[in-house]
Amino acid sequence: MAKTSKRTLKLIRFQRELERRIEKEGSYTLSDYAEARVSRIHGRGVFACKRIPRGRRIIEYVGEKISKTEADRRSRVGHAVYIFDLNSRVDIDGAIGGNGAHLINHGCEPNARSEWDENHVYIVAKRTIQPGEEITYNYGFDEDNYERYPCRCGSSKCRGYMLSNEAWRIVKRKLKLNGNGAKA
Ligand SMILES: [Zn+2]
Repeated sequence: MAKTSKRTLKLIRFQRELERRIEKEGSYTLSDYAEARVSRIHGRGVFACKRIPRGRRIIEYVGEKISKTEADRRSRVGHAVYIFDLNSRVDIDGAIGGNGAHLINHGCEPNARSEWDENHVYIVAKRTIQPGEEITYNYGFDEDNYERYPCRCGSSKCRGYMLSNEAWRIVKRKLKLNGNGAKA
């Protein structure tokens, strides 16, 4: 219990400071290349504060390292969008003890992607990103419970859900069969 409340306090403190700075200065610097600001996609987003060359690491995806079981539990209480698969045993919860990388929104036509080695996950520029552009990557969710994760990324190619390319092919077929008229 004590551990949980300590974590929660840390999270609240970080979020409060982030909100305060965004309100006062319009942005909160997260890395050499990225800052948090108000997003048109959802809540707070992450934006390029300078030109980012293709292939450059924008920010490390930092957070609490947790077991798969704990990740499942947290996913059920709304953390799914902040949890990253690190390896076959460990996941990262970016909403707790993170560096703000968890604020990066999902995009259906993303300008960034994830790249990982055994112990770290990085968000990397997929193409040259201009200053002021919102940084997005594909959260890559599978087709299970996809309705829980609607997307409003604003791209002309928006799928309406935060799906991996593979899951999107499956869901698109399903929507067509049900006559729901998929967008793409
Ligand atoms: Zn979208």
